[in-house]
Amino acid sequence: MKIVIVGAGISGLFTAYSLAKMGVRDVVVLEKRYVGYGSTGRCATGIRASFTSEEHIVLMKESIRLWKEYSEGELGRYGLNFVQGGYVWLARKEETVDTFRKLVALHNSLGVPTRVIDRDELRSLVPPLNTNLVAGAMHDPMAGKSYVFTTLRALMKACRELGVRIATGTEVRKLIARGSRIVAAETSKGEVSGDIFVIAAGAGSRELLKTVGIEIPTKNIPRHILTTEPYQRAFEPLVIDWDTPGVPYIVQIIEGNFFIGRDIEEEPEQSIYSQRIDFMPKALKPIAELFPFIKAVRVLRYWIGYYVATPDNHPIYGPVNNFDNLFIATGFSGHGYMMGPVTGKIIAEWILEGRPSIPQAEKLTLDRFERGALVRELAVIG
Ligand SMILES: Cc1cc2nc3c(=O)[nH]c(=O)nc-3n(C[C@H](O)[C@H](O)[C@H](O)COP(=O)(O)OP(=O)(O)OC[C@H]3O[C@@H](n4cnc5c(N)ncnc54)[C@H](O)[C@@H]3O)c2cc1C
Repeated sequence: MKIVIVGAGISGLFTAYSLAKMGVRDVVVLEKRYVGYGSTGRCATGIRASFTSEEHIVLMKESIRLWKEYSEGELGRYGLNFVQGGYVWLARKEETVDTFRKLVALHNSLGVPTRVIDRDELRSLVPPLNTNLVAGAMHDPMAGKSYVFTTLRALMKACRELGVRIATGTEVRKLIARGSRIVAAETSKGEVSGDIFVIAAGAGSRELLKTVGIEIPTKNIPRHILTTEPYQRAFEPLVIDWDTPGVPYIVQIIEGNFFIGRDIEEEPEQSIYSQRIDFMPKALKPIAELFPFIKAVRVLRYWIGYYVATPDNHPIYGPVNNFDNLFIATGFSGHGYMMGPVTGKIIAEWILEGRPSIPQAEKLTLDRFERGALVRELAVIG
């Protein structure tokens, strides 16, 4: 059985890795540019299970279990490092602390040990934070981060060792269908045939699927992020300023740099090379209020990547009704990096065992949009 995966981001590579681990010998990943060229190489490295939908919480709990297992195992030997530094959600308003209490009840009922914490505890978790601006916070100790490029390098090494071929510089221009089957991918380097096809092409998935008449309701929304120079270790959790519009966040990545992001008003499909100078003050002002020391840290650079967003902020997973051998993993709405391990696992199970071991994943197939069975998620950030 030959499995062709389009896209060498976190979703495509973890799918390839999971399939190869489950014994599939013939897996090829087709990538138009280079490994990590898409959203994966542009992300903030955050990993959490503190969501607002059961589907996300349950899937992310398993993903975090896998991040830990992989970090301690073979992928860890190749450099993958998951640091369980937690997330801290800041409330500037009292009423938000009440919302956090309700969320904590949901998380705890599904086995995610979040807690509402007071200012003293907050200070011990995030010493440089100006807690005068904060009414309270929610702490997610299960959350963490993993540096993207060491993760990708580890995955590439492990995949290649298991016999997976990663063909970079190979753009898939269209899929070729015969009846209810996809038979080949037409690429910039010729036709690639296969028995099963997985579309994990991030922002390129929608156009590619159109070539066989499949419409997916995703929008490619530019999201901005900057990095500072490396700095002495200041705090471990990813900190979210939940009550400020655009939800600014800051994380000190494993290499020491701070990544700072904020959602600013953007048009879907804008080029990721059209940078906006107004992003810098918009992102930095609220973060500098909370962390006055950051004003003395130098900004190194800034970039943009796409959030491939669905109408309900959940991914599109699994098989497509009109085709027997086509699977999708896209539309992560800003959470695809953290979901990488569980994405690989469930797509591999769907292909090899007919269904995923996590039933919540079955609620996230493409046909939910036709059926009007949307699954809501409210906590969209990095
Ligand atoms: C600023 C920012 C911050 C983020 N922060 C976080 C975070 O903290 N945590 C988190 O979990 N997520 C975060 N995300 C989201 C995360 O980056 C994505 O959800 C995730 O990387 C998606 O991975 P993917 O493999 O599905 O897609 P991608 O990484 O986009 O990979 C798809 C690949 O397919 C290739 N491709 C596309 N079309 C074709 C074609 N026709 N033929 C061949 N190859 C093709 C692309 O070149 C690309 O390499 C963030 C995103 C941004 C932009």
